[in-house]
Parts: sequence; structure tokens; C-alpha cells
Amino acid sequence: MGIFSKSPIQNMESFNCVDLIHPWSKSCIKGNFAMFIDSSKGFFFFFIIMHGVQYLFRLRNKKKIYIRQVLFNFMRSMSFGVSYATLFVTMNCVFLKMMGKFNNTLFVYGSPIICGLPIFFEAPERRKITSTTFMSMFLESFYKILVNRKIIVKSKKFETLLFMLVNAFLMYSLRIRQEFTDKKDTLWIFTPASPRNEDHSGNISHNNEKKCPHEYSCKENIIRKTLKYSVLGLAMALVRFTVYKVMSPLKTQESFFQWRSLQLSYFISAYVFIFETVNCYLCKLDGKHHSIHTFWSGLLSGISYWLSPNLQIMSTAATILLKIQGEELKKKFKLPDLPYGELSFVYSNMFILQRLIFDNQTVPKFFLNLLQFATSKRANITLEAIKRLYII
Ligand SMILES: [Zn+2]
Ligand SMILES: [Zn+2]
Repeated sequence: MGIFSKSPIQNMESFNCVDLIHPWSKSCIKGNFAMFIDSSKGFFFFFIIMHGVQYLFRLRNKKKIYIRQVLFNFMRSMSFGVSYATLFVTMNCVFLKMMGKFNNTLFVYGSPIICGLPIFFEAPERRKITSTTFMSMFLESFYKILVNRKIIVKSKKFETLLFMLVNAFLMYSLRIRQEFTDKKDTLWIFTPASPRNEDHSGNISHNNEKKCPHEYSCKENIIRKTLKYSVLGLAMALVRFTVYKVMSPLKTQESFFQWRSLQLSYFISAYVFIFETVNCYLCKLDGKHHSIHTFWSGLLSGISYWLSPNLQIMSTAATILLKIQGEELKKKFKLPDLPYGELSFVYSNMFILQRLIFDNQTVPKFFLNLLQFATSKRANITLEAIKRLYII
């Protein structure tokens, strides 16, 4: 991937962890301890927000919440976050002591890989969210590299077309998956309705005679779903706005009711409205419900990306599509039972940290904000030192 696009300086063997990794303290122990304390503070508030939002959505779905479980999961997240941040500093100090001098490979590959391993401390359910978020940031970063190298041109038209395609395959894959499983634990906001209904004896009956896979009349269904998702979109826009405001209080002066903040909810409303309308139209046209309909409905509903061009949305959709296809491949070729989600996190994290070291223009803004917030700005001191000393 040409990671070494900018060359490290010549006499890097003279580098010391004191100058490069923890410039705030001459002692390794004190240097590590300061990162430990600051990331404990930062991640404490970060995970309170993240877990809080997750439980709010759970309450909405009327799922039971057990206090002991909540606290236990919070501790698991904290041990993951704090060891992630601290291990990057610790490993660099350990490698330097072990090798006696600065080793470039260990700096670029060793520490970033090892600091990703604490993902195994997290609760399995939250690992999915974390690995999906990081994989989607990896794709976003990769896309930005292609744009920077002028391999693809940054244009709203191209991005919308790309999203339409990704969305068409995503909707189709989600719909196909529903035929075989009851899996609904996808991280994508919208899942096409399943025509699969079980009668009282447990037999599966496909209700093709009703043509459309929904309870109400077509018109009523479209209005109901669009309204439901508009409210959900508004809630998500509010959460996103609040998190962004808390994480970078200096940068945003805008109000919630501006176009930029509300874009996400307009996107979701238009997305669901177009999807349901096209789906019903195709059902009427064919006389019955085919899974391939979701492909065309997905393709057309992808146009709504135009309202809210956002690489985060695009890369999240692509990540979920890749995950579903990955599961299929695993089944088809009977691949060994490895922790693929966790491994994808370790790889994506290594890739993003390398971009951070060599070219932070291509690092997603969310990651930069996260790092700054979760380490109480301590990581920024390291980053500045790396930029000043390591890169010419
Ligand atoms: Zn040190
Ligand atoms: Zn219908």
C-alpha cells in the first residue's frame, strides 16, 4: 500500500521513546502512568455516552436491562479502551528496551497490532459494533487515499452512484438472509420486510397471495414506515449532534436545526420512502413478491445519498455488506472458526494508526475526535512529536 510514502528521517536509530512517544515525561513509568490516568478519564466519559445511547435504544425496544450486567459490560469496555491507549505507549517503550535501539518495523507494525488485541476484553455484542466501526473507518480511509492519489475523482455524482450499487446489493443480501434465518442483529438502520411468516404449527407460509410483504394497505404502509423512520432518523441526528458537540466543543457553533445537522434524518426518510414505494410498485407489477425486488428498490432508494453525501454512511453500508458476504463465504467453503470480526478490528486499527503516523489527512475525522477525547488530548502530544521528529 506504499505506507512509506513519506520517508522517516535518516538517523532514526537514535530515536528514544522519551522524545517520540511520551515527551511529557523523561521516565517511562511516569510517561505510561500519565497516559493510563488520562485515557481512564477520557474513556470513562466516552463509554458513558456510548453505553447510554445503546441502552436508550434498548429501552425503546422494551428489552430488559440488568444493572449488574450493565456495570460488568462497562468495566469490560473500560479495560479495552484504557489498555488500547496505554499499550501503544508501553509497547514502544518495551520494544526500545528490548532491541536497545529504535526499530521501524516494530513501531509501524508491532505496537499498532498489539494495542488492538484488547478488543477481546470487550463483551461479544459490543465487539461487533467496534469492529464494524473500525472496518468502516478503514474503508473510508482507503477511499480517501484513492481520491488523494487521483485514482478516483471526488464527486457527488460518483459517490451517489456507488452508494446506490452498494445499497442494492446490501438490501438484496439482507433479504436473502432473512429467508433462511431470523437474524436481525444488523447494524444497518433499515432491513427489508421478510415475507416469511410462521403459522401456529410452526410451518412457514409464504404469503404471496397478499403480494406485498406488509400488513396494511400499500399507501398506509409507506406512510407508517416513513414516519417511523423519520422519528428514528431525528433521534439519531440528535445523538450524533450531541456526541459531536461533546467530543469537540470548540469547533461546532452550529445549531441542531440547521441543514447540516438534520441531513441525516432527511436522508433516512427519503431512503425508506423510496424503498417502500418501489417495492410495492414492483410487487403489483409482478403479481408477487420476489427477493430480487429488493435489489431494484435498494438501487433507487440509494439516490437519497444525494441529500446527505457522507462517506461514513457509504463505508458503513459497504462494511455490513462485506460482513454478510464473508459469513456466506465462510459457510460455503467451510472455513475454520476464527474470530474474524476481532481480526478485522486488529487489521483496520493497524491500518488507521499507520495512516495517522504517515498521513493524517486520510484518517476519518471521527477517529481523530475519538482519540483526542478518549485520551484527554494526551495522544495529540505523541502525534505532534511523531510529526515533528519522524516525518520529514
Ligand atoms: Zn519510554
Ligand atoms: Zn405494498
